[in-house]
Amino acid sequence: MKIALDVDGVIADVIASWISYNNKIRPTILKSQISEWDFWKNHGINKFDFYNELSTCWKSWKNIPLTENNIASVTDKLSNLGTVDIVTAREESTHNDVKNWLKLHKINFKNYVGVLEGIEKSQLDYDIFIDDSPLNAKSMLEEGKSVILYSQPWNESFNDNRAMRIRELQTAVPIIDKMINESK
Ligand SMILES: [Mg+2]
Repeated sequence: MKIALDVDGVIADVIASWISYNNKIRPTILKSQISEWDFWKNHGINKFDFYNELSTCWKSWKNIPLTENNIASVTDKLSNLGTVDIVTAREESTHNDVKNWLKLHKINFKNYVGVLEGIEKSQLDYDIFIDDSPLNAKSMLEEGKSVILYSQPWNESFNDNRAMRIRELQTAVPIIDKMINESK
């Protein structure tokens, strides 16, 4: 079982860092107010600035919180079920910061795979993708891939039932275990 695990929005709460940055320089945005993937458009923020600011947040990788407390132990469990690769879309300059962050938080994985755009992920050979992007989920499903969608405010309106929605990462463990048993 080849498992592709996303970073931003699934194990790393980078939006928390971005919000605290944003709220120092622009009107306050709360995470709970975010309801769309491209929410920044509604706040007059352009795409270039938003993604640049996310990269800036990664420069201070030590400050980026985990999405949940027990992420490391969940990645241990997932690694017992199959090969877990980190599959992350980002600007090249941030890969080292992410790798340092993964090490700091004892994230258990085999390979680190970086792509430039999220939708490239759907072309990769994995049995299951754990991701939070509704755009990625859509393209993965279109390519016939299996998707576990990690719930976030920006994907709440994504309602394709083929994607299995989870609200805690540990819920992925029994789902993947069941997939393995059903494929035997
Ligand atoms: Mg993500």
